[in-house]
Amino acid sequence: FRYGEASEVVVLTPNKPVIFGQNHPLVVVAGPCSVENEEMIVETAQRVKAAGAQFLRGGAYKPRTSPYAFQGHGESALELLNRAREATGLGIITEVMDTYDLDKVAQVADVIQIGARNMQNFSLLKKVGATGKPVLLKRGLAATIEDWLMSAEYILAAGNPNVILCERGIRTFDHQYTRNTLDISAIPVLRSLTHLPIMIDPSHATGKSEFVQPMTMAAIAAGADSMMIEVHPNPAKALSDGPQSLTLEAFDQLMKEMVVVGKFF
Ligand code: PEP
Ligand code: MN
Repeated sequence: FRYGEASEVVVLTPNKPVIFGQNHPLVVVAGPCSVENEEMIVETAQRVKAAGAQFLRGGAYKPRTSPYAFQGHGESALELLNRAREATGLGIITEVMDTYDLDKVAQVADVIQIGARNMQNFSLLKKVGATGKPVLLKRGLAATIEDWLMSAEYILAAGNPNVILCERGIRTFDHQYTRNTLDISAIPVLRSLTHLPIMIDPSHATGKSEFVQPMTMAAIAAGADSMMIEVHPNPAKALSDGPQSLTLEAFDQLMKEMVVVGKFF
């Protein structure tokens, strides 16, 4: 295995280099599920930057369960992410779903996201690996740790050491109260197996905004290197994942709490 080789991932965002890794400050990625329009993405970027986030997230290409659900604005959303990047200097993290879109996504993204549903899309992993760009690899819906690390290995084997692992909750039998089950134990387990940086996404894990704060605290306590939080200026009107999205004010508050418990040294 090569996944023991990289101990940190350095991303050159417009503002500054940001380092993901065990011996570095907590990195916070925040933003809406989907890029909806210029106003909301630029406002969200400005607010999460002011609160202390280093990256803006936002989907242009959305992997939705239903083909009739909002699929993302695609290329025009990439252009809006670029505007938010220029307006704030934040790094951009956005998902690529298909090798066909990779060049376009790679032009805007500082970190390319592989979503949970594509964790074992091996041809996509190979191509993303070949770009050399930092990659955020989300854990598959029902992937074992071994499956996940082998997917990371595809990217590393393509010559790209810049992989960040993101736990986002695994399939569960209880869909009434949470969307997925956040596998907090993945943090120490990964720590024992790999030097790759570990991100936690409590938003997709719980599916409910009221559970994001306690799971964020738990993830930090367990040693997460980075957090991904969905934030929307008006969650009730969000085109996707409104119920799990924090308001801008709630995100401000959460950042204050993260500064207290997180490794912001
Ligand atoms: C996302 O982060 O936009 C997303 C779709 O998450 P996941 O792939 O973890 O479901
Ligand atoms: Mn989402």
